[in-house]
Amino acid sequence: MYDKNNVFAKIARGDIPTNKIYENTHALSFYDANPVAKTHVLIIPKGEYENMFDFLHNASTEEQASFWDCVKETAKKMNCDNACNVIANVGRGTFFYQSVPHFHLHIIAGEKLQDFSDIAQ
Ligand code: AMP
Repeated sequence: MYDKNNVFAKIARGDIPTNKIYENTHALSFYDANPVAKTHVLIIPKGEYENMFDFLHNASTEEQASFWDCVKETAKKMNCDNACNVIANVGRGTFFYQSVPHFHLHIIAGEKLQDFSDIAQ
């Protein structure tokens, strides 16, 4: 069940402030609080979706279009839409854990990571 108290739910509702990069009707992007590279930003839908598959199965066409618009415009603003990594962690049964249970994409760019453990929780 979706946890309404997770930190990205609070950001999406505007309950806690964040350093926004781009926002549209159903999505927003902001800087990761613990960047692993020069550019490390997060994109979230405003709706309550626990992970990427929850979003893909249950979000409306309009929400999905807004989300991808936010990904596109954020990468353009960060000047990394020709070279970056886009990562979605899903759940805790995998190599990289999802630590915040609200769907988000990481966009990471600007320098080479030492190894993937830099972004593992
Ligand atoms: P994940 O492990 O894929 O769930 O990634 C969660 C990310 O959220 C981590 O990279 C954290 O550094 C980041 N994070 C956690 N809290 C905040 C916050 N309040 N503002 C921005 N980024 C955050």
